[in-house]
Amino acid sequence: QAKDKGKSSFQRFSPEMNQDSHERLQIETRLRRALELEELELYYQPIVQASTGKIIGAEALIRWNNPTLGIISPDKFIPLAEETGLIVPIGDWVLNTACKDIKHWQQTTGMNLTIAVNVSPRQFRDGGFIETVNQVLSETQLDPQFLELEITERLILDKSIETSGIFKHLDEKGIKLSIDDFGTGYSALGYLKSYPFDTLKIDKSFVQDVIESSEDAALVTAIITMAHSLGLKVIAEGVEEAPQLGFLNQHNCDYAQGYFFSRPVPAEDFNNWLTKNIQDNA
Ligand code: C2E
Ligand code: MG
Ligand code: MG
Ligand code: MG
Repeated sequence: QAKDKGKSSFQRFSPEMNQDSHERLQIETRLRRALELEELELYYQPIVQASTGKIIGAEALIRWNNPTLGIISPDKFIPLAEETGLIVPIGDWVLNTACKDIKHWQQTTGMNLTIAVNVSPRQFRDGGFIETVNQVLSETQLDPQFLELEITERLILDKSIETSGIFKHLDEKGIKLSIDDFGTGYSALGYLKSYPFDTLKIDKSFVQDVIESSEDAALVTAIITMAHSLGLKVIAEGVEEAPQLGFLNQHNCDYAQGYFFSRPVPAEDFNNWLTKNIQDNA
């Protein structure tokens, strides 16, 4: 028994794992200070009307610029931020910054641009989410109909969160709700009829091979038809090439987003992109 114990504790502290947990702790410690050190930044990626390419808004995507670690993508630190609860203050900052920026761009362009903001389940569980949203909207004076909150099926699967009351409140305020990464979440489709969603985002994994794979083409077509029957708008994510856009248009997809139009870019670059895009479409 003593031998077993020794073996398992040896495993637990193997140099490799030790380095992993050391690295994790290092990232966590730095992430705690990222907000106050102003190391977080929002990038913006345009969302366009599929048939015309005309911009309708943008998705805000967070980046972390750490002097030591470099630019860290959200896939690397959002899960950690969720586990530690840091996603709550970070999420508040994202919401506030994104609403402020889009309000500014609405004023400079005179266009009704929508801002899409990703929200983690943990932000809903916290209890203060509705209050935060109300406060941000009143501070930034953004009309609620131009705020779209992106949630994933993970949130609906999490039974510890009282989602329907929160969704109802947000919907009554006129805020838009969208389902991100649709088709990747293993959840039953029944939720689509019981929640007030406005938009469904087809996950980029389906869009990527829509030309080469007849299965992906069938899924994308079916998702668009289903969404429209339920009164939802559809955004295709991860559009990289003209043929993909062509396919989506042929099947009446409403909106598109992806490298084909623009990568996510810093606010200043997005501002330039906007100016140019408006000129080109004038
Ligand atoms: P998401 O919300 O599904 O965002 C779309 C992701 O696809 C982004 O990755 C974007 O850069 C990428 N993308 C856009 N167009 C293309 C394309 O044409 N091809 C390919 N291959 N990829 C494309 P990103 O920025 O690394 O974000 C990853 C995920 O991190 C997001 O996925 C979202 O779940 C999460 N995230 C980002 N910002 C936030 C945030 O502020 N709060 C929360 N809670 N999560 C966030
Ligand atoms: Mg998203
Ligand atoms: Mg609604
Ligand atoms: Mg997505």
